[in-house]
Amino acid sequence: MNLVDINTLFSTEDKCRELLVRLRFPEGPRCLRCKMPVVELETEKQLFYCKDCDYQFSVTSGTVFNDSHLPLVKWFLTTHLLCEAKKGMSALQIKRTVGMSYKTAWYLCHRIRHAMVQTDKPMLDGKVEMDVTYVGGWNRGKGQICKFDNKEVVIGIRKRNGDLRFFHAQDAKGGTLAKYIRENISEDVEVIFTDDHSANEAAMRKTNRTDSHKKINHSSGVYVMGDVHTNTVESAFSLLKRGIMGTWHRISAKHLPAYLEEMEFRFNRRNRKDLFLDTLRHMVTADPLTFQRLTA
Ligand SMILES: [Zn+2]
Repeated sequence: MNLVDINTLFSTEDKCRELLVRLRFPEGPRCLRCKMPVVELETEKQLFYCKDCDYQFSVTSGTVFNDSHLPLVKWFLTTHLLCEAKKGMSALQIKRTVGMSYKTAWYLCHRIRHAMVQTDKPMLDGKVEMDVTYVGGWNRGKGQICKFDNKEVVIGIRKRNGDLRFFHAQDAKGGTLAKYIRENISEDVEVIFTDDHSANEAAMRKTNRTDSHKKINHSSGVYVMGDVHTNTVESAFSLLKRGIMGTWHRISAKHLPAYLEEMEFRFNRRNRKDLFLDTLRHMVTADPLTFQRLTA
């Protein structure tokens, strides 16, 4: 689906709402409280009414669209733009392109992002690469020791020809890496590729993966040796960094996990033709994100 399709298919609030009803209630509208079938009221806003528990609601009640005064047409356009931008899109760009205040655009992007979360994350197996990168804060200090002082640690794990996982971690020590290995890499993984940083070896020992570990000696300037490399996870890192540098400019540590989820969500669906519909499906099933919670 391209921008012209979106503009044609979802040109009115009614058309948008109809799609949301189909995505939220694939087997027909049901009461949000008692799950009984409901009737549609003869109202402008397509409200549903449950006779069994006397409850009235709309298709967007209790979702990320909750209480929004922004037209659905703008929600749809922005969702499409965020789906199509491989490196993400800034609130400033949305403000200009779709037409709304900066504050509205900022909140809107966060709510869409809030829904761009994979609910099922199967353990990765086969050939898996793991690496660490540092994003954010520019250090003005001198010397190696404080090089990463005000940067955030991002751990990337990627199955070759498969899924990617990004995590905002506290540090890149062996114990931390081991935790993410246990939670994301299957015990019968074929190979785990990393660089020769000593924390990786510690993590492999802690998780009994020493036998499946292959490392590339980045410290001696070697980046590929046969099939031993971490290039595919590094290409995902470079996309992330270009997103952060070029699109979002400054990301606070607080919002970093949400940006990582967005990147991961889009990356893992990069070959899917239904990315836009799938994102909307997540949006009508995700919990609301209040402005208060976002800015707390
Ligand atoms: Zn009910």
